[in-house]
Amino acid sequence: MYSGLSYCIVGSGFSGSVLAERIASVLNKKVLVVEKRSHIGGNSFSDIDQATGIEIHKYGSHIFHTSNTTVWDYICKFGEFSNYQHKVMALFKQRIYQMPINLKTINDFFNKNLSPNEAIDFLNKEISSCGITNPKNLEEKAISSVGLNLYNAFIKGYTRKQWGKDPASLSADIISRLPVRFNYNANYFNDPYQGIPLDGYGQLFDRLLSHRNIELRLNTSYEEMAQYIPPDCMIIYTGMIDRLFDYKFGALEWRSLNFEWETKNLSDYQGTSVVNYSDESVPFTRIHEFKHYHPERTESFHAPQTVISREYPIAWQQGAEAFYPVNDTYNNERFNKYLYKAKRKSNLIVTGRLGLYKYWDMDTAIENALKLFERLKKSEIP
Ligand SMILES: Cc1cc2nc3c(=O)[nH]c(=O)nc-3n(C[C@H](O)[C@H](O)[C@H](O)COP(=O)(O)OP(=O)(O)OC[C@H]3O[C@@H](n4cnc5c(N)ncnc54)[C@H](O)[C@@H]3O)c2cc1C
Repeated sequence: MYSGLSYCIVGSGFSGSVLAERIASVLNKKVLVVEKRSHIGGNSFSDIDQATGIEIHKYGSHIFHTSNTTVWDYICKFGEFSNYQHKVMALFKQRIYQMPINLKTINDFFNKNLSPNEAIDFLNKEISSCGITNPKNLEEKAISSVGLNLYNAFIKGYTRKQWGKDPASLSADIISRLPVRFNYNANYFNDPYQGIPLDGYGQLFDRLLSHRNIELRLNTSYEEMAQYIPPDCMIIYTGMIDRLFDYKFGALEWRSLNFEWETKNLSDYQGTSVVNYSDESVPFTRIHEFKHYHPERTESFHAPQTVISREYPIAWQQGAEAFYPVNDTYNNERFNKYLYKAKRKSNLIVTGRLGLYKYWDMDTAIENALKLFERLKKSEIP
């Protein structure tokens, strides 16, 4: 039994690590962090590939971006960020386009030379010719954002691969309205703060968790530790909520991913960090080329080899990594049953993207952890 332990945090992604850091340093309480993987950092983890010296993102490209000054000021205390600006290309029928759809994508795709205002008129005609005013599913929502032609090229095949279902059978709630830019801005994100940790996410997480009040247990699942946790210890659980309750109401549906890694004897494979493959006939959705995240690391950037990873969406099964929640009505209702059960336990808080069954970017995970900490602090310090 861990006597004197006030908090046990399950999971060392941004949700768990930020809470551990705040509780350890501000509340001066002992925290045990339990992580089932062999490394900290959750899905945001990155590390150096020993063979090439290139920093790789183990669970696919992770670009930090936020508009939240509190989050940015907080995370910058644990690492310096580069000024990397993310740009994504999409390959469709052997031609390369800029993503998200912008004026260059429209002009290249329709073989035109439209000005911004002409492109607005042109796309409005494309959209109105589809006649969708009240989109009832993901396909209709996407078509009512970009028109049928751009939908067929860049959304339809990609979405079918990503979700493993026909877009017409998916809930419109799964996507927000698709962004279209009527200028040549090729930046993927609009946020004012953006970058990649200069010495990698792994180092940033090391610093988050380096406080003397934090004890870290890697390769350990909560389920095998539970019997050693004192009954008055507060459990903060950032794992899957349905697993916590032994899938009592059935498993929540997720999409999982398979990453196929390859080291190429080439200095540069695709000229950029991410290329989307929107043709349905290509089985993967993206290729990541990691050296492009660190052009400032001149040695690995100019090395004669490069590391790429092909991303294949796959159906999730119990035991696999859960990446994208399928937030349709059926699953959300099932999730609410688990949440109700969790809320009735006074020494349990469920949070994080896995716990709350939400797609969160890293900044949202940090923002939620900081807000949760403020609530905990109020109850700890009257
Ligand atoms: C492919 C992909 C790309 C992404 N790219 C970006 C991006 O570019 N920018 C961005 O801002 N966000 C991105 N994200 C989102 C980002 O990964 C999440 O915001 C972030 O990981 C959330 O942190 P978290 O701590 O809530 O969850 P996680 O990072 O998933 O951490 C949860 C941790 O809990 C551990 N755990 C779970 N159950 C147990 C258990 N029972 N016992 C012990 N440990 C357990 C897990 O092993 C994991 O380490 C991406 C996500 C995916 C899937």
